[in-house]
Amino acid sequence: MKKAWKDETRAIHAAAKFDGGVGAVSTPIYQTSTYRLSAPGDESGYVYSRTANPTRDALEETLAALEHGTSGFAFASGLAATNAIISLLSPGDEIIAGDDLYGGTFRLFEQIFKKFNLNFRYVDARETKNIEDAITDRTKMIWLETPTNPLMHLYDIDAVSELSIINELLLVVDNTFASPYIQRPLDLGADIVLHSLTKYISGHADTVGGAVVVKDKILAEKIGYIQNAAGAILGPMDAYLSLRGLKTLALRMERHSENASKIVEYLQTKEIVQEIFYPGLDGKPLPNKMTLAGGMVSFNLRSDIETVKSFVMATSLFVLAESLGGVESLINHPATMTHASIPEDIRRARGIGDGLVRLSVGIEHIDDQIADLETAFKIIENKVKPKT
Ligand SMILES: *Cc1c(COP(=O)(O)O)cnc(C)c1O
Repeated sequence: MKKAWKDETRAIHAAAKFDGGVGAVSTPIYQTSTYRLSAPGDESGYVYSRTANPTRDALEETLAALEHGTSGFAFASGLAATNAIISLLSPGDEIIAGDDLYGGTFRLFEQIFKKFNLNFRYVDARETKNIEDAITDRTKMIWLETPTNPLMHLYDIDAVSELSIINELLLVVDNTFASPYIQRPLDLGADIVLHSLTKYISGHADTVGGAVVVKDKILAEKIGYIQNAAGAILGPMDAYLSLRGLKTLALRMERHSENASKIVEYLQTKEIVQEIFYPGLDGKPLPNKMTLAGGMVSFNLRSDIETVKSFVMATSLFVLAESLGGVESLINHPATMTHASIPEDIRRARGIGDGLVRLSVGIEHIDDQIADLETAFKIIENKVKPKT
């Protein structure tokens, strides 16, 4: 890989050396568990696929290149990657997290790790001061997801990174919503980047995976050790699918963002839409050197839960489904779907009410996307204001 290459080029060519010795242009799927050794105890090459596999290596190198890190690690899911990161900590340690989080991350923290005496504190991280105020001498890690799921909160990675350096904390950024094409947290001072590969990176709703990327050598050794020792690795077929997805990431993110911003304009014309959540919507410039606003849009409908349910069931191009980031458009009702694992009082207090709808805007033609939403609006507008 040439150092001078731009990210679009790296996405396609970073893994070229894994050609199977036959000049394969596409990285082969090395569907093998073990490898022939030249002598007993020889560990100079591949030994066992939990430790390393060439297809997974190709993906991990490409991810590291795109996130401007030194080492990448691929896991069985985004949550398996989260699990590996938290395994860096010890009982008694404290983690400060931005309070708008993927529901499954919150569940993992609260239901699994809390009982190992790890303490999670949630703050509104849109004000860096709130993080600073929460730091104690037991704090070891700051956990930010930005833009957040589902309210699109944006945090100042640069400023939080300064805090983390002064206080010797690890700063983790879940970069799933932005993808490395839009935002590169390691460039802004983060120590660890996390991805659910399931989303924009694989991009076609056909695989589940997760990744960790770091810059620091010692941290890389620790994560690599946990990956092998705990064993929640990504299989070769899934590594291949994520690697293939990465090759078109740049094109897809451009179109996701273009379509999403047109949908935001359309939503702004709707009386029944109370509030829209989309990066850059408030007229402020995008933070964190984000190159685009991305493909995720949330909004509140001014109506009761039954009407909101009819709305999300009335679209057909926008498929009612969990997950996001694929070429196909999806619609989701966070309160009863992706964020149902957050207790109702906490969920409501964080602004995820019954009226909230989340769109993962795909790359279909914008006219078809808007026509589909228009059908759904017509149905509920008739319900809310019956025609006389
Ligand atoms: C989906 C998601 C995860 C979890 O990833 P899985 O691959 O589903 O385990 C973590 N963070 C964010 C922001 C997500 O959207």
